[in-house]
Amino acid sequence: MKTAWIISIGTELTLGQTVDTNGAWLAQRLAALGIQTDRHVAVADDLAATADVALAAAGAAEVVLITGGLGPTDDDLTRAALARAAGVELVFDETSLAHIRGFFAARGREMLERNRTQAMLPRGAKAILNTCGTAPGVELRLRGCPCYVMPGVPFEMRAMFERDIEPVLRVAAAGRALRQRRLHLFGMPESEVGDVLADLMVRGRNPEVGTTATLGIIGVRINAAGDSAAEADVLLDETEREVRQRIGTPVFGRDEDTLAGVVGRMLVGRGATVSTAESCTGGLIAKELTDVAGSSAYFLGGAVTYSNAAKTAVLGVDEELIAAHGAVSEPVAAAMASGARARFGSDYAVSTTGIAGPGGGTAQKPVGLVYIGLATPTDTVVLERRFGGSVPREAIREWAARTALNRLRTWLLEG
Ligand code: AMP
Ligand code: MG
Repeated sequence: MKTAWIISIGTELTLGQTVDTNGAWLAQRLAALGIQTDRHVAVADDLAATADVALAAAGAAEVVLITGGLGPTDDDLTRAALARAAGVELVFDETSLAHIRGFFAARGREMLERNRTQAMLPRGAKAILNTCGTAPGVELRLRGCPCYVMPGVPFEMRAMFERDIEPVLRVAAAGRALRQRRLHLFGMPESEVGDVLADLMVRGRNPEVGTTATLGIIGVRINAAGDSAAEADVLLDETEREVRQRIGTPVFGRDEDTLAGVVGRMLVGRGATVSTAESCTGGLIAKELTDVAGSSAYFLGGAVTYSNAAKTAVLGVDEELIAAHGAVSEPVAAAMASGARARFGSDYAVSTTGIAGPGGGTAQKPVGLVYIGLATPTDTVVLERRFGGSVPREAIREWAARTALNRLRTWLLEG
């Protein structure tokens, strides 16, 4: 058993009111078993559509996992849809009914008539015990393919999967392990990464390599399949080494690493401290630094200096410098960084000043122009970045914050 489809049922999912977390959780658990999910489908509470998708899934995959639509209300149609797909009728399951009654009794409540429908199963299907709620799960074969249906409520679904489904799949999938690793890069455009890694990214290669990009951070996803987890890990190690060697310093971490976390570790390693002087990022850099537990060991403080007066009063930026160059300028970014470094008494300080938009841009200083300063014990340096006028405000701010953290990281790497 190597391939799966996952079907998530519920109009709240197709309308985007609820995010399908069940699908993501299940796919990860399947991957850990060595089963690859080829497709996720979200389908509205619609009997015919659900029956169609279930049949398509059973025709294409070696196992199908379905969640949702097992409740007692009229919009919960999964049982009926499966009966239709299997071409059988719904029949009453006494054991499930007894369980549902017991569930209510244990809470001192009377079972509602409505809940009786939850004890209906397609003929030939087996109920799966729900240890956390009323709706039993359903196990059946469609076109010969095993299908497991679980409640939509995430904690009920997880409990049922772990107790009664995962052990069966583990046996069925035995021998094949899928392992995944993610590397994170900053400072190389995705297209360049694509060129540098082109031969590693060809389809069908094992490990398979793919990239994702969000606001300057490129993720390199490596998926390996092996006869054992250890064998897959060896393949991951080889490909990771190759990727790191080709990309070089832009690789800042892997898996759960963040830019701020990595910078923090580097500062701790050097016994060094940092402070921030932020204008257009409004405190985002300080926020990201302090998202990391233990950041009090190296982050001394930050100033959000939005007005010119605040830049002067708080950071000691010369008024005449601002008058001569404008607040969004290289000299002001430098003065902000060195001002913060002096006032906070830190070894390093980063600064940002820019135009986050959507208004306020000019021909010389368009929206998206940001200066990022770094003051160090030996030098003060400034980067000029143009993130583009059509990029949303929050993206410009986030990108600028990441650029500042990465500037500090590359400085620490070189020093
Ligand atoms: P249901 O089993 O369809 O009655 O779903 C019960 C509740 O579980 C829904 O109201 C949602 O809040 C939640 N739910 C259902 N499906 C999912 C899913 N795929 N991911 C996350 N939550 C879900
Ligand atoms: Mg539902």
